Amino acid sequence: MELIDGNQAATALIAELKAEVATFTGRKPCLALVRVGEDPASVSYVKKKEKTAAEIGVTSRIILPPVTITQEELFALIDSLNADATVDGILVQSPLPKHIDEVAVFRRVSPDKDVDGFNTINLGKIAQEDDTGFVSCTPAGIMELLARSGTDLKGKHVVVLGRSLIVGKPIALLALQKRAGANGTVTICHSGTANLPTLTRQADVLIAAIGRAEFVTADMVKPGVVVIDVGINRVPDSSKKTGYRLTGDVHFPSVAPLCAKITPVPGGVGPMTVAMLMKNTIKAFHLRSTH
Ligand code: NDP
Repeated sequence: MELIDGNQAATALIAELKAEVATFTGRKPCLALVRVGEDPASVSYVKKKEKTAAEIGVTSRIILPPVTITQEELFALIDSLNADATVDGILVQSPLPKHIDEVAVFRRVSPDKDVDGFNTINLGKIAQEDDTGFVSCTPAGIMELLARSGTDLKGKHVVVLGRSLIVGKPIALLALQKRAGANGTVTICHSGTANLPTLTRQADVLIAAIGRAEFVTADMVKPGVVVIDVGINRVPDSSKKTGYRLTGDVHFPSVAPLCAKITPVPGGVGPMTVAMLMKNTIKAFHLRSTH
């Protein structure tokens, strides 16, 4: 079994991006990070994004509206960032409070600053195999990890667990694209899927993104499978200082011995997501003509 090391891949990519930004003589790329409220996971994700941006030389602008912000006020904030010539990329950290329509917020971000890739235009560009858009960071990170670990999806049965806009649907479309490294035959499973283990056992590559701790067990995979575990779940653990441990959607101890390759949690897809956000921000900087 080979461990697909997301930390190592992300470190390599971050070094490449840092070297690229160092060549920019004028203004540096700028990423606006909008975090509504104090959701603990969001606090740590935004901190990590800010830290990685600083490491690369990308300027970050942190905006922290209160949890009580209205939809209209959030729209107005996004409009002002859309219009701000010094901002290249905008990320609105998910999840948003219940009273806010998250998809409407994603749509409000200008497609050319949508470094999270959730705007309708950018999601559509994945379907059209148009490289001028932004691919959402987690799916883009998964494709990068597969490529860097020498996993070609051509001719493989790729089974995706989950159909969210953020992970499941875009990764399924990317795996399906008719291009080098992709060209997979894709099955997408969700909560309405019947006989799910029968399908997962057919997977040559299994991508688990359902948000259920250790859901995928040894009896659900075939030997020699490549497993990408996207899940980040907090499981109560009194032996930890934080009171919880992080686990994926895959029961690592029993599944890993059966795998040709597998990503760990933490240290797999997560670090790549942040690195791809920086890659998208630099792409946005290049695509805009204001610097
Ligand atoms: P969502 O909750 O938006 O989507 C979960 C999907 O899984 C849905 O399509 C749902 O089906 C499906 N699902 C849930 N339970 C089952 C089940 N028992 N059987 C089959 N399908 C099921 O989650 P996200 O896609 O946003 O995230 C998934 C996981 O990935 C989470 O743990 C999240 O924390 C993690 N994540 C990690 C990232 C990273 O950087 N590593 C980034 C983003 C997410 P239905 O559509 O029918 O409801």
